[in-house]
Amino acid sequence: MSKYHERRTIAKTSFLSTFFDETADGKKKLSMRAKRWIVIISIHLLFFLSFAIDIQILEGTLSGSRFLGFHLIDVFATLEVYLATYHMPINMVIGTVSIILVYLLIGGRTYCSWVCPYGLLSEIGEKLHNTLVDKKIIKERSFDNRVRYIFWAIFLILSFTSGYLVFELINVVGILSRFVAYGWSVALVWVLAVFLVEVFFARRAWCKYLCPIGTTYGFIGQISATKIEWNDNCDHCMVCHDVCFENQVLEITKSKYDKQREELGIKKEVVMSGDCTLCGRCVDVCHADALSYTFRLKSLV
Ligand code: SF4
Ligand code: SF4
Repeated sequence: MSKYHERRTIAKTSFLSTFFDETADGKKKLSMRAKRWIVIISIHLLFFLSFAIDIQILEGTLSGSRFLGFHLIDVFATLEVYLATYHMPINMVIGTVSIILVYLLIGGRTYCSWVCPYGLLSEIGEKLHNTLVDKKIIKERSFDNRVRYIFWAIFLILSFTSGYLVFELINVVGILSRFVAYGWSVALVWVLAVFLVEVFFARRAWCKYLCPIGTTYGFIGQISATKIEWNDNCDHCMVCHDVCFENQVLEITKSKYDKQREELGIKKEVVMSGDCTLCGRCVDVCHADALSYTFRLKSLV
């Protein structure tokens, strides 16, 4: 059954089926989830091959890398290093500015859903978590996601006061990225612990409440050019809310805004929140084709 014939909520769909989508005239195609997984796996395969057989396309890890010789440095890592050492080498400035420019174009938290290796693991944990909730084995818990700003500030203050990159000790993204490039380490036990918290305690807890890397890309995302666009084909079925772990960003899909939109003649709106990871799950499940990607600078291209 395609999304045009049934509501593809998490409870109703198998994990495997979410890798495929169907056009309105019944043609099979890869879903956005499948495309994201291919991108994430390809990026990390390049990291692995650069180290293993020295192909020198994408070298390093997600914290700091070189793509065809260009430096790319994670923005939060740069903030940590600067606050810990009061020093920012020129390569770091170039690498960080390059990354900021890229994410201003492709969307801030695109990093979370199209690049981060933990995001991929977390999606598996999310499915397990939702299945357990559905079977009433565990309770659904949610907290105020603005707690992420407090963690963001705490980790930077800790760098400043200690002179160490304290967050890197628990950074599951860095641990996984180093694992892919350089091999096993005991720190993977910590990744497993975070994964189990997400399965048994709170849906996507790391990404939603804690990760300061995602929070930093969220700041960039507020003004980025790539966004999710909603249109008035929407019948407010709320399936997109079901599949989105940051569903506060989909407020505009609610029917309570229809009257105001009708009065103002608004037929399209953009998801402005930097919390949106541009994962495309909402695009995959929308039976009314009311959600799509949009590039706000397309008139300039
Ligand atoms: S945007 Fe699509 S999935 Fe979301 S409420 Fe509207 S019709 Fe349903
Ligand atoms: S709004 Fe859509 S693209 Fe954005 S995080 Fe939610 S499901 Fe993903």
